Parts: sequence; C-alpha cells; structure tokens
Amino acid sequence: MFPIPTVLTAPELVDKAFRRASKATGKGTTKLERGRRGAVAKVQTLGDTIDATLKKYGEAVPSLERLPDFPRELVDLLVGIGNLKHDLGAIEWCRDQVKRVCRQSARQAGRAATPEDAMRIRKATYGRVGSLVQQIAPNLQSFARARRKIIQVPDIDPEMPTIVVAGYPNVGKSQFVRAISSGKPAVAPYPFTTQGLNVGHFDRRYQRYLVVDTPGLLDRPMEKRNPIERQAILALRHLADVIVFLFDPTETCGYPMDLQERLLAEVREAFPGVPILEVENKADLMRAEGRRPKVSALTGEGCREVADAALAAITSRVPGAAPPPTAG
Ligand code: GDP
Repeated sequence: MFPIPTVLTAPELVDKAFRRASKATGKGTTKLERGRRGAVAKVQTLGDTIDATLKKYGEAVPSLERLPDFPRELVDLLVGIGNLKHDLGAIEWCRDQVKRVCRQSARQAGRAATPEDAMRIRKATYGRVGSLVQQIAPNLQSFARARRKIIQVPDIDPEMPTIVVAGYPNVGKSQFVRAISSGKPAVAPYPFTTQGLNVGHFDRRYQRYLVVDTPGLLDRPMEKRNPIERQAILALRHLADVIVFLFDPTETCGYPMDLQERLLAEVREAFPGVPILEVENKADLMRAEGRRPKVSALTGEGCREVADAALAAITSRVPGAAPPPTAG
C-alpha cells in the first residue's frame, strides 16, 4: 500500500553519507584552494546525502489525515499514528539541523585560513552530524519497525463498493467469492491474520465491485477474540458496503445452525448500519425451508442473483449512487 523505502539505522545512514562525502573533491590551483574546496564539497555532500535520504522517509508516508478511513485505521492500529508522527517529526528535526550545520561549515571551510583549518572544520562537521543522526537512532529504529507493519496494509481501494462475505469456516465463503468473481481472486495480506483476505472482483455497468472473504475474521464468535483482533474486525466496517452472510444448513461445515445464527447476530452488532444479506449455501445438497435465498457456490446456482441483490443494497444505501445494475 505504501511504498516506503527501506529505513537505514543511524550508523548505516552516517556510513552512507560519510562514504559519499569522502569521494567529493575540490579543484584548485593552490593547495589552500584545493583544501578549502575539498572541505566544502565534502560537507555539502554529507548534508545533501542525509537530507535526501531522510526526506524520502517523510514523503513516503502520505499525509495521514488524508488517508481513507480503512487504511488509516489499520495504520493507527498497527503502529499508532501518534507514534508515527513523533518519529517523523524527529527525523525532520534532524534533517533541518544537519542542513544548517553543513551550510554553516561550508561557509567557514570556504574561508579557511589554511588547508589544515579546512580539514579541521570538515572533521568537526562530521562529528556534529554524526551525533545529530545518533540522536534520532531510536526514531529511525521505530520508524523501520512501523514500516515493516505498514507495508502489510492491504492494497485495496477503499472507495470501491465492496461486498464482504461472512460465516463460519467451511460454509463456502471462498467458493462463493470464486463463484461471483471474474477471474481468480487474489490474496491480499491483512495484518493480524496469517491467511490474508481473498479479494475478487466483478464488473457491472462499468463499475467494478470488490468481493472479499476474510478468513479468520468474521468466522467465529467475538468472545474468542483479543482486543486487537476485534479492532481489526471493526476496521472492516470501513470496507464493507454490504455483507453476505453465508449459512450452511447442511451443517457439513461442522457448525450447527444455532451457532451460525448466533454468529450472524454478532456480525450484525459489529456492523451497525451495514446491510446484511442472509444466504443459504450448498443448495445442491439440501434446500432448507424458509425465505432466505438459496445458492450453490459449487455449481454457481443462485450466486449471480445474490450478487445483484447485494449491489442493490449498496446502491440503496449510498445516496446519489448509480441505480442498481440489472444486467452485466
Ligand atoms: P470457507 O471456509 O467458508 O471459505 O469454505 P470453502 O469455500 O473453503 O468451502 C468449504 C468446503 O465446502 C469445500 O470443500 C467446498 O468445496 C465445499 N462447498 C462450498 N460451497 C459448496 C456448495 O455450494 N455445495 C457443496 N456441495 N459444497 C460446497
């Protein structure tokens, strides 16, 4: 989601900048001129290298306030937006200080009385810059940790209308996602679960819809969750425009219907205001009584109708959205 470059540690950053600086030279006709210009070139390169590297870190994290709800909540959950801002603030501070010190030193080195003086100024600058970078070592470290987590945030366009599929394991959620997707669903990493989200999509009337199965998330009772998992589930409410809750009335999934009904009640509670379509799967094996639509994710029977009903629920929920599509 966020292409943040690898974050260097403080010693790595200093090393990189010193190495670049050591290659910079200054031309001149006299020893003094060469000494001055060499020192100027080195401290400038030092400052520029640190400036450019740290600048990339700040730019890589897009304005956090402007992130859409879903990725922002995940970033906040993973690393805490407050912590992230604190680290970026420290990094920015260091960048400014290094620039200031190097600018000042370049001016002094350019006016040095002797080549030895120029070298002394250069060495002093290396020392000051090294200690400035060292001061933000903990921030670079925690930013590197944050980066490793942030890059797990799934690359899902939160603006795209999305159907989230819920229900106990083995009721046929992933089969259903496959049944209504055009093409093969992809797995998007999702922090807090090892399995990731299965994300499929299909198009109707020039609009793309996402259909997402959330293995390990909306498939067991909330009481078995730790607080982080609950939050991770709640983040999905920013994604879900409609929920298709799948039942398996054959109970071949291993969960009796009364447990499945209870899970539905919990999902309803966790997603207030999100329309929920209750659908019975595995109709090829058995058709229960009742008014719930019946589908077979295996044969595809009834799946398209459920997808259409889901789209109708989305459009009736979003004011000003396009009318419900009829045919693809
Ligand atoms: P999930 O854990 O809810 O994602 O369930 P899966 O999609 O992995 O399906 C679990 C098992 O049920 C698999 O063996 C599927 O082939 C089977 N299954 C899914 N849908 C149907 C269906 O409509 N009819 C039948 N007979 N089997 C199905």
